[in-house]
Amino acid sequence: MIHRTIPAVQGPDLSLQSCWQEQLRSVITCPQHLLQILGLNATDLGYSEEALGAFALRVTPAFVARMEHGNPRDPLLMQVLPHQNEMRQQDSAQWQMDPLAESHYRAAEGLIHKYRGRVLLIAAPQCAINCRYCFRRHFPYEENAPSRKEWQQSFNYIREDSSIEEVILSGGDPLVLSDRQLEWLIEEIENIEHVKRLRIHSRLPIVLPARLSERFNRRLSMSRLQSILVIHANHPNEIDEEVCCALRASRDAGITLLNQSVLLRGINDNCDIFTMLSNKLFECGVLPYYLHLLDKVKGASHFQVEKSEALTLYNKLRAQLPGYLVPQLVEEIPGADSKTVIA
Ligand SMILES: *Cc1c(COP(=O)(O)O)cnc(C)c1O
Ligand code: SF4
Repeated sequence: MIHRTIPAVQGPDLSLQSCWQEQLRSVITCPQHLLQILGLNATDLGYSEEALGAFALRVTPAFVARMEHGNPRDPLLMQVLPHQNEMRQQDSAQWQMDPLAESHYRAAEGLIHKYRGRVLLIAAPQCAINCRYCFRRHFPYEENAPSRKEWQQSFNYIREDSSIEEVILSGGDPLVLSDRQLEWLIEEIENIEHVKRLRIHSRLPIVLPARLSERFNRRLSMSRLQSILVIHANHPNEIDEEVCCALRASRDAGITLLNQSVLLRGINDNCDIFTMLSNKLFECGVLPYYLHLLDKVKGASHFQVEKSEALTLYNKLRAQLPGYLVPQLVEEIPGADSKTVIA
């Protein structure tokens, strides 16, 4: 009998494992703490206690470490700081709690079947970071936090519809789940024969890159499913050396890496920023996928960029970059049978 050498489970991975969960436990939720780290003072910033009450502050130390000290307009800070602009009421009718009407497409507890061939599983009830512009900021996670039995109903639904070829894990953020929970989920999905692809939508590769552990990469690379990881970066400052190394390791494990961004006024509504972002992503093995117009979620109207401006920016990008580094400019129109490509 030939004993083949099995690649050793490397020691550092175990420490990373505990490390990412520890980092997740030490997310910053206290505004005073955040501002103190950055050397800023609340009154200069438009920080709002009321906005905090409407949607909590949540940000990982790794993400904060990429913010510029003393800069009140830092593009990463502006994505997470509860701001008085969120409480503006004049836009109440157009800006809604469930802007994509997702509740109409609930096929089972935590399962959204909206587009052909793909279902979206709300795999985790929370994120490592709370983005102020998030279209799920009012999502009733309590009503969509399924038990294992309810999970089975989702799997049954998928099993009974052989047109479903792709399962998308979303959230919240599916990568806040423990490895054990995630592995259970993946195995259940692998057991449904007609499913070919597993897609994970997550912001953790950016805000908590240690999450892309060797164990995670290995589990996906040994799956019979093709795996796609869609990360979410809005600004080149979000990508540092640690993020880049983690992404490259996942790419080397055979995971297809894509990025989606949201176009945000005052944060990234600028052609040079997206040029830098695309170049940086590609260096890390990631292709730009979507650039989303902001969904009209209540509390986020101050981030809106008009469609005409977005188109101008897109056309400039086309002139600056090779086609494969230009994300598709899309918006989500409730009731449409796919995301709507604008450009
Ligand atoms: C965005 C989205 C998908 C995936 O759409 P793609 O165009 O394939 O990226 C699937 N389901 C829901 C509910 C979505 O919002
Ligand atoms: S779902 Fe995505 S955009 Fe929304 S808060 Fe979580 S990480 Fe941010």
